[in-house]
Amino acid sequence: MLKQKNLIFVGAPGAGKGTISGLMLAKYPMAHISTGDILRDEVKRETPLGREAAVLMKAGKLVPDEVVAGMVRARLAQPDCRNGFILDGFPRTVNQADLLAAALKELNNPLDRVIYFKVDDETLLARLTARQNCRKCGEIYNKLFMPSKVEGICDKCGGELFQRPDDSLETAKSRLEVFYRQTRPLIDYYEKQGLLLTVTETDKERIMALLERELA
Ligand SMILES: [Zn+2]
Repeated sequence: MLKQKNLIFVGAPGAGKGTISGLMLAKYPMAHISTGDILRDEVKRETPLGREAAVLMKAGKLVPDEVVAGMVRARLAQPDCRNGFILDGFPRTVNQADLLAAALKELNNPLDRVIYFKVDDETLLARLTARQNCRKCGEIYNKLFMPSKVEGICDKCGGELFQRPDDSLETAKSRLEVFYRQTRPLIDYYEKQGLLLTVTETDKERIMALLERELA
């Protein structure tokens, strides 16, 4: 069993946070906290924060850290978070991390560990650009993890596979740049607090074994 269960997952897009979250949640009764999910839920339920966020997003503006942190705090106050939680994709900046620290202190449910999935850029770029879509039926493939039987051809309908602009090398590179710029200071921040666990392993079974050992 895990002793340390209040976790933050940090990693570049393509680093495998989602995969490992899925494996952890299948095995342990933890809450999965993704700001994307929370934001959508608050907007849908038309809560005061949700309404504020909706107005900003409609105007094409970023939702401020304080608003997002307020939503995360409300989510962390739910009873299921007492069994442990994985914060996935939040905080992204030091300012958000300060807001989170204040919220967790108030809730008296401190953070145990911050897991940084450190994957080399070459691997990240290969993963981020591996997605292919069928032009005809929209089926999604992945050159690395779920390739079509015949290269470039859809298994289902024989249509041509193509890469969406979102999955291009240029887009992937700029997503990584944003991640490093924003998140590097965050990694130092948690390192200084002695909370950081850096995982350089890329095999998911081995990552799980490592986490279970380190968090026991
Ligand atoms: Zn197809």
